[in-house]
Amino acid sequence: MGRIRILPDQVANKIAAGEVVERPASVVKELLENSLDAGARDLRIEVESGGRRLIRITDDGSGMLRDDALLAFERHATSKLRDVKDLLSIATLGFRGEALPSIASVSRLLLETRSMEETTGTRIEIAGGKMLVCEEAALGGGTVITVRDLFFNVPARKKFLRSEQTELAHIAALVTHYSLAHPDKSFRLTTGANELLAVTPVATLKERVYQVFGSQILDELVEIGVRERELFLPPPSVPPSQAIADYRSEPDEPPVRRFRLSGYFSRPQVQKSNRNSIFIFVNHRLIRDRLVMHALTSAYHNLMPPSAYPFALLFLECEPEEVDVNVHPSKTEVRFRHGSFVHDFVRDTIRERLMESRPAPTFSPAPPPVRTPPAQPASAPPVPPAPTQPAAQVPYSEFSQMLENEAPVAAAMVEPAPETAAAPRAPEPAMPEFTLHATPPPVPRLDFSAPPIEVAPGPPPSGKLQSRRLDMHGEFPAEAIPPPEMSLSVLSDLRPLGQIHESFIVAAGRDGLWIIDQHVAHERILFEQVLKQRAAGRVETQRLLMPLILQLTPEQQIDYARIADELHASGFETEPFGNRTIAVKAAPAAVSAPDLERVIYEILETADSELRGASLDDLRRNICASIACRAAIKINMRLDFAKMEWLLRALAATDCPMSCPHGRPIAMHYSTREILKAFHRI
Ligand code: ADP
Ligand code: MG
Repeated sequence: MGRIRILPDQVANKIAAGEVVERPASVVKELLENSLDAGARDLRIEVESGGRRLIRITDDGSGMLRDDALLAFERHATSKLRDVKDLLSIATLGFRGEALPSIASVSRLLLETRSMEETTGTRIEIAGGKMLVCEEAALGGGTVITVRDLFFNVPARKKFLRSEQTELAHIAALVTHYSLAHPDKSFRLTTGANELLAVTPVATLKERVYQVFGSQILDELVEIGVRERELFLPPPSVPPSQAIADYRSEPDEPPVRRFRLSGYFSRPQVQKSNRNSIFIFVNHRLIRDRLVMHALTSAYHNLMPPSAYPFALLFLECEPEEVDVNVHPSKTEVRFRHGSFVHDFVRDTIRERLMESRPAPTFSPAPPPVRTPPAQPASAPPVPPAPTQPAAQVPYSEFSQMLENEAPVAAAMVEPAPETAAAPRAPEPAMPEFTLHATPPPVPRLDFSAPPIEVAPGPPPSGKLQSRRLDMHGEFPAEAIPPPEMSLSVLSDLRPLGQIHESFIVAAGRDGLWIIDQHVAHERILFEQVLKQRAAGRVETQRLLMPLILQLTPEQQIDYARIADELHASGFETEPFGNRTIAVKAAPAAVSAPDLERVIYEILETADSELRGASLDDLRRNICASIACRAAIKINMRLDFAKMEWLLRALAATDCPMSCPHGRPIAMHYSTREILKAFHRI
């Protein structure tokens, strides 16, 4: 008895209608989804001319019975859905029964398939929707679908196709994503003789990430593990889609729903200029979802500039009833039944993991903001790399900008990169910014005559070591090298050595040397302090002797009205004072009177530029960030040792000592291992 049936009209009409076949990649997507739905474990994809001339997908799935193979080309013929109720809990990737007929109507299609239940297979040829051949054939199990000359009969559509390389890039990206969603299956994508992706089954997502992106990207990622949150359903439930609301009537729904999040996301130093490196899978379906996307970016709020995006591979799993996939014809959008629960779950989980990992940026030959992970293995030529973003461009002093430009030189200290070695830069460029300040009296500076790290002499080298290397300068015993410490919790026992340019604290730690930006470090400390006070409703305020009167533009007036309550709760006592004027009577104790005007205008500005439609939580954090930034000690400020020590301790105690509330890095770490390497001691 066949498995495929034609959906009755009343079901077909409730399926999000629309064009499925837009470009070669959409054919690959539909065919891959079919193979996965058929339980395939080995998927091979061959393309020619970016998929225009040929797309062939070979799978080892269930195959189709003869009758089913014929029926599959009818509209709304599917084995995955029976009635409207099934639409509420779709567990397969496909369900519309439209892909095969749509593809067959705009190409020359050959289907070769055999179900294990039959002794012979079936071969069907269709061109432009017309059946040419349907015959028995001796075939192995599984299905091969070959699609040639896509859009041969729709010249208008053909004209809109992009270059072969672009179309191939889309296909490669798509196959890569599906391979990430199914680490236990093998995928092979070839174009002509070129192999673009070949991955064998592995046990974990981590291994698949390694297969696809390489080890470098893994170092920059934080693994979520598997995090769960339960939702206790209130008695009356809201259906996911109005269109099918009438059909929800199970009275005995389980009262608990379980959501699971796993995957990887990048540390805040990894900053991309667009969302192309964010992959969201809901129940193993790749989707573009604004809600999850927003949850992800909110998790990085105050850790990354608002214009930058992370790299992320997020797998969200939940009961099929919790997500409506019947929203968009290409099934790339979903609607959650409990959207805000999902949003907060994703945001909180990622934020928690970010805080737990507390990773420190290290000196590395590459400038800090980040390599783009190859979307495909190195042999894949066509994928246009997502442009990387230069260092986060947040407003800052010229001084820091200039130092940023110098970053590659500092980096070259560790391992001279060929480019920097070839074009050496002046070691001590003019630094006019420093002369703006009165020349300070001589203060204890970094004393390079003393060894920066305490290196224990260690036991005499063993025979094994001696045979490996004879060094006149003394062998460095491997066991004396502390293991590399990536976590900033080691900050708590740093010993300050001095300041560089009265702006950066240099400190020795258990494992190597640290440089800490004093302004952003203090900013982070204050930010968390103010945020905690705000959350507890105990912001320390101070009354002004004279109210500060501020003139607002009409736009600022609107923003002010919108955020007045939050301003008040954050310690700013303000009230309207005549036309487009406000009087500030009290302010958070951390903000000094001369800075107050700047802080309020800054808060109004951020409220205007980024916060339209953003959450109260974002607004609150931005206000706290503005307060912290103004109140923090500045660069070009001499600190005595007691202050430096205090700053390092306080920083170590913060939840997130790796970046300031605007997303700048706080600390750089030069590990003992790197120092030893640089001196050729290991
Ligand atoms: P849908 O996937 O929405 O059901 P399609 O038009 O993509 O609709 O496919 C129609 C039917 O053909 C599927 O329901 C499935 O039963 C069958 N089918 C398609 N591709 C395969 C395959 N690779 N292996 C086994 N069965 C398949
Ligand atoms: Mg399908």
